[in-house]
Amino acid sequence: MSVLVYINSAHGIGKNAFETVTYGKKLGDVTVVTNGNVDDASLAKLGEYGASKVLVDKTLVDADDQQLTRLIANAADQVGANTIVFSHDHVAKNVAPRLSVRLKAGLVSGAIALPDADGTIKVNVFSGKAFGSVKVNSAKKIISLLPNSIQPENIGGSATVEAFAGNAGDAKVKVLSTKQPEGEIPLPEAELVVSAGRGLKGPENWGIVEDLAKALGAATACSRPVSDIGWRPHHEHVGQTGIAIRPNLYIAAGISGAIQHLAGVNGSKVIVVINTDPEAPFFKAADYGVVGDAFEVLPKLTEAIKKF
Ligand code: FAD
Repeated sequence: MSVLVYINSAHGIGKNAFETVTYGKKLGDVTVVTNGNVDDASLAKLGEYGASKVLVDKTLVDADDQQLTRLIANAADQVGANTIVFSHDHVAKNVAPRLSVRLKAGLVSGAIALPDADGTIKVNVFSGKAFGSVKVNSAKKIISLLPNSIQPENIGGSATVEAFAGNAGDAKVKVLSTKQPEGEIPLPEAELVVSAGRGLKGPENWGIVEDLAKALGAATACSRPVSDIGWRPHHEHVGQTGIAIRPNLYIAAGISGAIQHLAGVNGSKVIVVINTDPEAPFFKAADYGVVGDAFEVLPKLTEAIKKF
């Protein structure tokens, strides 16, 4: 089977890309298509995870959704792909449905597993509150894979990198500027996340959250009110209206565990909750709970981790 994997390389090639290529490799022979200012050495690394070829249109920088749709459709035509795989990020949410219409391909959005023997794919639905089983009837299919659903597998292969004229047409939207937080682990890719909520009382107290995150090598996150009132940047907001994450470890301090927050984090493999209120709803979703004051527990946890 010929599989085309789209990689959003706007912020470099990272774990999500390796996961998506690994997933594609389990379905067939993988060609990657991407665009923008990305170096060939990073692209060639995708070969280690199973890509045999990488097509890159370096002239297409700051592409809009229509341009990306045309780029991917043209690449799919060129390689005769019958399956197209995305990582389920903001690009996939916008572009995969457009591509689905254009290619008359069934779309599986938010996959969390490989297809079963009969082609059924398990997906997350209702913001992670339930699972669904989806089967595509069309000849072509598009799958967008939730980050952290499978482990990237380095199989030691190699990929050729080829310039690709995507014929993506003109942009209808002009990107005026983009801002990328520096030196931080992108939340959707993070395996470990330390998160905090209104229980931290104010932005001046976030040092104890950052200290623990640093000791663990974790990303930091927060509840929605915390970003709404400006204690933390918006890109840290997780939940139904923020980013949905599935890290191996999610530590939540001073967060009540409202259903809208849980919607974005309940796919985490292990959840640790620190809250002074033993009745906080988050404890019901926790694997480990500490009924205690975050101002005491977080520094003790940091000290303990530093000893390892
Ligand atoms: P609070 O509810 O105020 O909870 C603070 C917690 O801290 C309490 O449980 C308290 O016991 C504990 N605490 C206090 N002091 C300490 C201490 N010293 N040590 C330890 N614990 C302490 N929320 C999101 O997070 N993400 C979303 O995406 C989101 N989307 C929403 C969408 C809609 C349509 C709506 C209506 C709401 C949404 N919300 C979202 C808001 C959500 O309903 C909650 O209001 C919010 O998650 C609460 O944030 P919090 O837990 O930080 O604050």
